[in-house]
Amino acid sequence: MAIAIFPGSFDPITNGHVDLVERGLKMFDKVIVSVLVNPNKTPLFTVAERSAIIRRCFPSERVVVDSFRGLLVDFAREKGAKVIMRGLRAVTDFEYELQMAMMNRELFPELETVFLTPQTVYSYLSSKLVREVANLKGDISKFVPPHVEVALKEKFGNASS
Ligand code: ADP
Repeated sequence: MAIAIFPGSFDPITNGHVDLVERGLKMFDKVIVSVLVNPNKTPLFTVAERSAIIRRCFPSERVVVDSFRGLLVDFAREKGAKVIMRGLRAVTDFEYELQMAMMNRELFPELETVFLTPQTVYSYLSSKLVREVANLKGDISKFVPPHVEVALKEKFGNASS
């Protein structure tokens, strides 16, 4: 069985991430969307909240939601995954992603990193930008699934608007 891990912060998941998972499902039997527990960052949504939000995006049993802390390569080994999926939106993503892919290869040579690109309309989209626009009460309905929009409104205290 071909298992891919799609790691990230997903704070929160956006239509860009959803697009990538759907592409991944065409290539792999199972995609494990894996929320990184990062003690150095203060996220908007807790790991449990992010995981629950991600789960609601994917009815398919071939998408599994999990979280991990520590080294991604250790998590991949534990899950029996041989592929890491990452997104490349623009050139700006490239340097960091390449560094990570090379380091992960040093640590676990059998693990391949696969880069996918989203639909052009999502290529400028990031969780950070979505959080900022939502905080300023802007319309984010085109950028996230409806239940994510509701969760963001609840977080920023404008659930009734
Ligand atoms: P991280 O903090 O690991 O970058 P993110 O949740 O921001 O976590 O992103 C996880 C992965 O999803 C990364 O590979 C990122 O490049 C990719 N990604 C983020 N936003 C998009 C998008 N709009 N389209 C495609 N890929 C994306």
